[in-house]
Amino acid sequence: MKDPWGRIIDYMRISITDRCNLRCKYCMPEGIDWIPMDEILTLEEIAQVASCGALLGIRHIKITGGEPLVRLGCCHLIRTLKQIPGIEKVTITTNGILLGQYLESLKQAGIDGINISLDTTDRCLFKKITGTDGLEMVLESLKQAVAMGLPVKVNAVSVDWDSWREDGQAGVAWKSLLELARTDPVDVRFIEMMPIGAGKDFPTVSHERLLTELKASYPGVKRDMKVHGFGPAVYYTIDGFRGSIGFISAIHGKFCDSCNRVRLTSQGYLKTCLCYEDGVDLRKILRADLPDREKRIRMEQAMEEAILQKPIAHCFDDPGQITEHKGMSCIGG
Ligand code: SAM
Ligand code: SF4
Repeated sequence: MKDPWGRIIDYMRISITDRCNLRCKYCMPEGIDWIPMDEILTLEEIAQVASCGALLGIRHIKITGGEPLVRLGCCHLIRTLKQIPGIEKVTITTNGILLGQYLESLKQAGIDGINISLDTTDRCLFKKITGTDGLEMVLESLKQAVAMGLPVKVNAVSVDWDSWREDGQAGVAWKSLLELARTDPVDVRFIEMMPIGAGKDFPTVSHERLLTELKASYPGVKRDMKVHGFGPAVYYTIDGFRGSIGFISAIHGKFCDSCNRVRLTSQGYLKTCLCYEDGVDLRKILRADLPDREKRIRMEQAMEEAILQKPIAHCFDDPGQITEHKGMSCIGG
């Protein structure tokens, strides 16, 4: 369906858990409280929301979290979502730690793509950022996924990690990631850090700067006009590279006029924009003492009303206006 600004809303990001097996400093600092399990939607409830979404024109679903692969039944949910009439693509974003052990099940479930969040290929820096010495597992899973023919993208937040490295060498964290796109058919995308949750303390590096550095390091950089997915990334190719380099510039390249998404939090709250708390509590409807048909009607109505009030744009350029105070792991990044 269209929102009041004429944008087609056909993409829903669904957070299936607030739990995670990593502690990325910008996302989930130590000491965070877990949401009680009975407040988190069951997999059946998530599928019911997705079915209503499909009736309203949702075509693509991204499974996220927390870390979605720590939730038991994640692959079963994906299989269920893939069978909903109208749903064309179901993809997942994961930190890659458990990916190796679930790749076969994800493939069997019909997953359409895997985004691996990886901010560096430097082992020490990985450990400092995530709190875990797990880089090898992530890289192995990535290779395995590619070998299985699954579409894989790597996402990295654009943060200046130079001072986090023992040797303080400039630009190593992000430049080493580019090598993944040289050796494998993997798009490597940089995502500007948004001032959400702990991310507020990690100012984003502007993509203008990264692009200038990219062009200086690789003379054969060209704009890539091929369609790579259903998101707002701007892509570049480098001669001799098998994957492309993408930039998702939510802050410096505000792309709200092409926003196509809503978000379902693990607690069943449908959010219409990252930086505002506006939305609707679908869990209340799902758990109301009503016949199933009545619930479905109410849920569809509530979702439609929420989309009809979707804000025109985010307000990250005016932080005083931000009304969302939850962290990314609760919202579903
Ligand atoms: N655990 C999974 C993962 O890491 O892919 C899924 C959830 S995680 C919240 C989803 C994505 O959000 C990750 O790529 C992470 O780097 C990104 N992220 C977390 N906090 C962010 C922020 N403040 N701004 C931009 N991206 C952020
Ligand atoms: Fe976990 Fe993903 Fe947040 Fe890292 S970014 S702490 S992997 S939810």
